[in-house]
Amino acid sequence: MAEEILKLSAVKLREEIQKGNITPTEVVETFAKRIDQVEEKVKAFVTLTVERAYEEAKNYDGKGKLAGIPIAVKDNILTYGVRTTCSSKMLENFVAPYDATVSEKLKKEGAILIGKTNMDEFAMGSSTEFSAFGATRNPWDLERVPGGSSGGSAAVVAALMSPISLGSDTGGSIRQPAAFCGVIGLKPTYGRVSRYGLVAFASSLDQIGPFGRYTEDVALLLEVISGHDPRDSTSAKKEVPAYTEEIRKPIKGLKAGIPKEIFELGLSGEVKEIFEKWVESLKAEGVEVETVELPMLKYAIPIYYIIATSEASSNLARYDGVRYGYRTPDYKDLQEMYTKTRDEGFGAEVKRRIMLGTFALSTGYYDAYYLKAKKIQRLLYEDFIKAFQKVDVILTPTTPTPAFRFGEKLQNPIDMYLSDIFTVSVNLATLPAVSVPIGLTKNNLPVGGQIIGRPWEESTILRVSRAWEEISNFSQWVPEL
Ligand code: GLN
Repeated sequence: MAEEILKLSAVKLREEIQKGNITPTEVVETFAKRIDQVEEKVKAFVTLTVERAYEEAKNYDGKGKLAGIPIAVKDNILTYGVRTTCSSKMLENFVAPYDATVSEKLKKEGAILIGKTNMDEFAMGSSTEFSAFGATRNPWDLERVPGGSSGGSAAVVAALMSPISLGSDTGGSIRQPAAFCGVIGLKPTYGRVSRYGLVAFASSLDQIGPFGRYTEDVALLLEVISGHDPRDSTSAKKEVPAYTEEIRKPIKGLKAGIPKEIFELGLSGEVKEIFEKWVESLKAEGVEVETVELPMLKYAIPIYYIIATSEASSNLARYDGVRYGYRTPDYKDLQEMYTKTRDEGFGAEVKRRIMLGTFALSTGYYDAYYLKAKKIQRLLYEDFIKAFQKVDVILTPTTPTPAFRFGEKLQNPIDMYLSDIFTVSVNLATLPAVSVPIGLTKNNLPVGGQIIGRPWEESTILRVSRAWEEISNFSQWVPEL
């Protein structure tokens, strides 16, 4: 019975609760027990809120699209009254004084917060190894990283510790860990979801998005968190489609493009093989496949690391020991207080980004780096828009390789940055994209396929995800723990 509940989709779980076959308290109990069993191995949570979850389950009133459903939330999204650390020493004891808009929406729809998930510090990284509280492990192979920065949110879903979760994606932080952990992860169009209460990394690229094992759950969660928010001026005044209905439309006749550049940018043999097989399966379902060109794709990583670090250097200036979180205990004057606070509060990767960004924005370099990057970003966007005149979706592998081992990419930051080669371009071009499990390697490691859509066409990419889910039954691919 417990096993069955853990494996149900959130949508089905909600139906069972509504029918009276199971109570929300029993649901919380089932997931709490699972957490007790496997969290010690996976280490996906920074903070557990199980006690609170029981309280909420007790107060269940049946209202809302997620009534009685447990959810885990990345620890850079504010949750009123609960610690929000960004996996940084800087915010180790920071208790959120208000809810992010997405947290408010989850509450309104009756979702039950079960915990806050581990991440790379301030969402900078691709492995969760940069968490100040220790790395999360990949549930498929505990010797390997779960990806990042939303590694915790991907791992909890893969390890059946929560049916759904939220992450944030600036350059791949939802899709890359989803691929490494064998779950679905969706990065919405920029402006689809309010960023109010999301701790800022690179504000022009950050988006919150859902994780799940079933397309219907990802669609439902996206439906709940989307929409205009007067408190985030970059959120769009656009109607939110009924994604849960939209995903049922067939995919026959849909046109898919494969960028020819992906094969030139480094793709491991097995990932390439699995990707090609996936494309063949979609063809068999009536998807028409052709090659498209994205000539600017090869600049995506350098542009991203200039724009993202520039914005980060400015956003992280607020952690000065005065306004939030950590302050060094010993200092002789204000200047020393600032310097020591930042030196002690931030980890190495965050410092690296602040230095890179500060350099790129400094007088004399601004035109050569930041401005140039912004221009190429525009050209990259135009490449995509041009391709989308011919095709409805673009397909790539989510990552060039499956999950790597701990420490493998720590010595060389560029190596780590390259694991996002297929994802960062999507943020730079503001587009929606979803990563879905497309196969398992011989070593039993999941491989992800990325489906990129036109701006605001989350429905279309989810339709492909849903059709593929039906063919492959990937929702039942669960690691043994
Ligand atoms: N891995 C990328 C980085 O380190 C993306 C992070 C993210 O999307 N938050 O910046």
